[in-house]
Amino acid sequence: MPTRSGKADAPPRAERFRLHHLLAISDLKREDADHLLARAEPYVSFLEQKSKKLDALRGRTQINLFFESSTRTQASFELAGKRMGADVVNMSVRTSSVSKGETLIDTAATLNAMSPDLLVVRHPSSGAAALLARKVSCSVINAGDGQHEHPTQALLDAFTIRQRLGTLEGVEIAICGDVMHSRVARSNALLLTLLGASVRLVGPPTLMPADADRWGARVHHDMKSGIAGADVVMMLRLQTERMQGGYVPSAREFFWFYGLDEDKLKHAKPGALVMHPGPMNRGVEIDSAVADRVDVSLIERQVRMGVAIRMAVLEALAEHGANA
Ligand code: ASP
Repeated sequence: MPTRSGKADAPPRAERFRLHHLLAISDLKREDADHLLARAEPYVSFLEQKSKKLDALRGRTQINLFFESSTRTQASFELAGKRMGADVVNMSVRTSSVSKGETLIDTAATLNAMSPDLLVVRHPSSGAAALLARKVSCSVINAGDGQHEHPTQALLDAFTIRQRLGTLEGVEIAICGDVMHSRVARSNALLLTLLGASVRLVGPPTLMPADADRWGARVHHDMKSGIAGADVVMMLRLQTERMQGGYVPSAREFFWFYGLDEDKLKHAKPGALVMHPGPMNRGVEIDSAVADRVDVSLIERQVRMGVAIRMAVLEALAEHGANA
C-alpha cells in the first residue's frame, strides 16, 4: 500500500515484470497478466485518497502520442503518469509534425532523441505500436492500434470484473456487437480466456471476424441465446469510422437485434453485470435504461479502474527499463 511518505510499497510479486513493452495481450503469459493485476490492486484505495501523488516515476518522462482521438484513454494515461510522479507530455497529431507529412518512423526518431522513458501510442493502423517499439529505445505501450489490440483496456476490464466477482475462473462473459472492428474485443477475448473465463462473441455474421473461432471463444449470431446465462455482458461500440460500406442495414435495426435493453438483459444470469469500453452510442448498442443501472452497470467503474491499471503498467515497464 502507498505509505505516508508518498511511496507505494511493492505489491506482492515474485519477480519484476518480464517485458520491456506492452504491445498486445497475445504477448502475455498468465503470470504477466497476474503480475499487472496484482500491481494495480493497492492503487484502487490509493486513488480514493485526497492526496494522490506518488514519486515512483519521479524524473521519468512519459510521452503520450495520439494519432487518433481519445477522451478516456489519453486522460487516463496522463493522470496515471502524473500520479506516479512522471513528467508527462501529450502530443496529438494535429499539433505535431505528422500533420506536415513526417512519417511515423521519423517521428519515432525525433521523440527518441528526447530520451523519454515511456511512450504511449494510439494509431489507426494495426501494428503501428509494434513498429515504433522497434525504432525507439524506451518502453512502448499500445493504447490502441487500428482493429488489432488495446491491451490496457482488456487489463482494466479483467480487473474490474475480478474486483466485483472475486475471480475470473469459470465466469461466463459475452462480448457483443461490432466484434470485427473492435480491438477491445480481441484483447479481451485473449486476456479473459487466459485468466480462466469462458468467452462468447455475439454479433451479426457481417461484424464477426473470419478468424473469431481462433480467439478461444464460442461464436453466436443471436443476441438472446448468445447472452443466455452470462455473468457479464460486455457491449461494444458500433465502429462506423472503420466501416466502408454497409455492414448493418441501419442503426435502428442493429439496436432491435443486438442493442442491449432490459428485455434482452433478462436472458443473462439474474444480476448479470453490464460493461462498455466507451464511448457509448446510446440507443444503438446499448439502451440508457441499462447503461445507467447502478446495480449492474460497471461502466463508470471501468473508467476508474483504468487509472489504477495504467499506473501499474507504467510502473512495471519503467522498473523493467531501469534494469534492462
Ligand atoms: N475506446 C475504445 C477504443 O479505443 C473503444 C471504442 O472506441 O469503441 O478502442
